[in-house]
Amino acid sequence: MVLLNIIGSIAESFTNNLITEDRYRMILDGLQVTLLITFCAAIFGTLLDGLVCWMRMSRRKWVSTTAKVYIDIMRGTPVLVLLMLMYYVVMAPVNATGIVVAIVTFALNMAAYVSEMLRTAIEGIDRGQTEAGLALGYTRRQTFFKIVLPQVVKAVMPVYQGEVISLLKGTSIVGYIAVADMTRASDLIRVSHLKKSYGDLEILRDINVNIHRGEVISIIGPSGTGKSTFMRCLNLLEQPTGGSIFVDGEDILAKGYPVHLMRQKMGMVFQGFNLFGHKTVLENVMMAPCQLQGVPPEKAREEGMALLRKVGLAEKADVYPSSLSGGQKQRVAIARALAMKPDVILFDEPTSALDPTMVGEVLSVIRQLADEGMTMLIVTHEMKFAHDVSTRIFFMYDGFIHEDGTPQQIFEAPVHSATKAFVQRIRKKVFEIGGPDFDFLGMHSAINAFCYKYGISEKQETAQLLVDKMLDDVMAAHRPITVRITHSEQSGVTALDFMVEKMTATPLTDEQRNELAKLCQQVVEEPTKRGFRVKLVI
Ligand code: ADP
Ligand code: MG
Repeated sequence: MVLLNIIGSIAESFTNNLITEDRYRMILDGLQVTLLITFCAAIFGTLLDGLVCWMRMSRRKWVSTTAKVYIDIMRGTPVLVLLMLMYYVVMAPVNATGIVVAIVTFALNMAAYVSEMLRTAIEGIDRGQTEAGLALGYTRRQTFFKIVLPQVVKAVMPVYQGEVISLLKGTSIVGYIAVADMTRASDLIRVSHLKKSYGDLEILRDINVNIHRGEVISIIGPSGTGKSTFMRCLNLLEQPTGGSIFVDGEDILAKGYPVHLMRQKMGMVFQGFNLFGHKTVLENVMMAPCQLQGVPPEKAREEGMALLRKVGLAEKADVYPSSLSGGQKQRVAIARALAMKPDVILFDEPTSALDPTMVGEVLSVIRQLADEGMTMLIVTHEMKFAHDVSTRIFFMYDGFIHEDGTPQQIFEAPVHSATKAFVQRIRKKVFEIGGPDFDFLGMHSAINAFCYKYGISEKQETAQLLVDKMLDDVMAAHRPITVRITHSEQSGVTALDFMVEKMTATPLTDEQRNELAKLCQQVVEEPTKRGFRVKLVI
């Protein structure tokens, strides 16, 4: 009877813990991680131990001492301490994932043990073996590799195998716990090789990013480059056509994965608010927690009111959304997302549909959340806001995350020209002039329209004068020629570029240069990758 009870309770806890809560998947994942770490660490460790052993046996004192100190430190530090040190101190600046840290740590640790083993084995080989080899005419190197090393390997193999097995145990016990913790502590979303196409149209080409807890990431970039699509793929409102997405260590694209549960942890705020019109403001906020998370109505009401207070709309609790302004609607939408206590909130251009006077009130709510450490992804065109509030910026362009960095990097020192053009809000218009049949009148009106559109009408006359002078006079003989007008809305700099392919030297005479210099602020003559350029800053 007692026995039956025990068996019954074991069976119950087996189903509860392993099957119902999907722990078996975690265990399988863990096994995979363990094998991966062991495999990589064994390879790197083996390469490294050869090096350490060689250093240890070096005749140069400082080299052998360095190796000895390394070995002593590695052997004297418990591996868990080593893992923590590596993760939080040594490798923190490079932002490595838990698995990489574990591989490096175990490899370093293994190298220390195996190198000593190797050294003992090498020293154990009779000196006569080397002498016999040398006497036969082998070089020193050949003697080592062909005579000594095979004997060392043979002697070391059994111990080495034991070392790999203890590595496997180490990674499975210490490693997995630590790695799972570390992964959980840092990576919330891991996206690799994400792709999305509609028919032949490739929208997302290859997106690879890891998003950590506590990050506030702004996604910027021109319209139509896939920012919304990327965000909607993250919570599977769009089904990706390739790649993988892990949320909190779980593969959300796996068959049978409970997508709706993941979405409860990933809030979303839309450009068009999407409040439920048939519910009051407070009901909008308390509905999902009550219906989906089983929060008792009284508690949900209390928490809902607290959230409305937080976004400044407690007063509007009982009205319907239709009576609210855009800014107020969006603040309710944020409260509604927060009510589910999400791990991360996705904002897709939360202020783009708003009257300019209401942008500020929504941005300050988001700013407050950022200060509280909420993890957020924000697609936005508000550059100053993105600069101030984000810990990281993604610049999306043409279906890729073209550049990924801190706000300082992206806004002040962008690497790619597309990023630069975007963040400095460089507007441009390009004309390819092949020959006399070109539509010169059309170009003139286009330049006028450009100046008008970007508020630099005062520069229009100079621009036309310079274009005429360059095309009819200075560079009359140079066709085809590319003319470009650019204007940076950020710095206010307007420039005309005249580019000719395969030209190697400046076409300007001293006289022409002086004359141009009187008409504009600066004359730049420079070779380009494919030819030569004259740039006139107006
Ligand atoms: P962004 O948010 O950066 O402006 P989107 O992700 O909304 O860009 O759109 C990227 C591209 O995908 C656009 O060219 C858009 O026309 C196209 N697109 C979006 N949704 C669909 C769809 N359902 N079918 C076909 N094309 C789509
Ligand atoms: Mg969009």
